[in-house]
Amino acid sequence: MTTKDESIMIILSSPSGAGKTTIAKKIQQKYLNFKISVSHTTRKPRPNEVHGIDYFFVSKNEFQKKIENNEFYEYAKIFDNYYGTSKKMVLDLIKNKKNVLFDIDWQGTKKLSKFKELNLIKIFILPPSKKELEKRLTQRNQDRKESVNKRLKSYANDIVHWEDYDYIITNEDLENCFRQIEKIIETSIKPVKLN
Ligand code: 5GP
Repeated sequence: MTTKDESIMIILSSPSGAGKTTIAKKIQQKYLNFKISVSHTTRKPRPNEVHGIDYFFVSKNEFQKKIENNEFYEYAKIFDNYYGTSKKMVLDLIKNKKNVLFDIDWQGTKKLSKFKELNLIKIFILPPSKKELEKRLTQRNQDRKESVNKRLKSYANDIVHWEDYDYIITNEDLENCFRQIEKIIETSIKPVKLN
């Protein structure tokens, strides 16, 4: 895809509800050169979600066609829906010299890690506890009870994959969690050469 000297690529993964989406948005606001790789999904949009910004919402048929046309670097079935990282989306960001943020799960992380030429920094965000996660998922109030339960059930299975990541950060306090991510980003960005 690219060489190691070019774009930085940060993967943010976490059990659903640990605050990853908010963090990804904060990174984009502070570091204007970072752009989120907007995934495709067959999940229905939540009330505040916008097509093309949060996800590209597509039907199962459209998703299947994209798989057949080899349009994804990786895709996974999560909570009964499909999610995939589009090659075009990532290549366009690289072409425009952007740093890329991926909000993907551990399955996608494993698959992207196989592209050795990528400059990947893999960050796993944990909620302070399962109880706190349940509170956040319930407060988010955007998913039906059944969907919240599915997300809680997969928690134990999700967190065993922390081993595949470079950094593990607990999101007890959003500002503190973000400060740790800022440090990671600032040590990874190379100073601009003046010549
Ligand atoms: P949600 O439905 O809450 O937006 O996302 C559910 C899970 O899917 C999250 O863990 C999110 O990181 C993951 N996800 C979103 N897009 C992708 C993708 O393109 N590939 C993979 N593997 N996971 C994704």
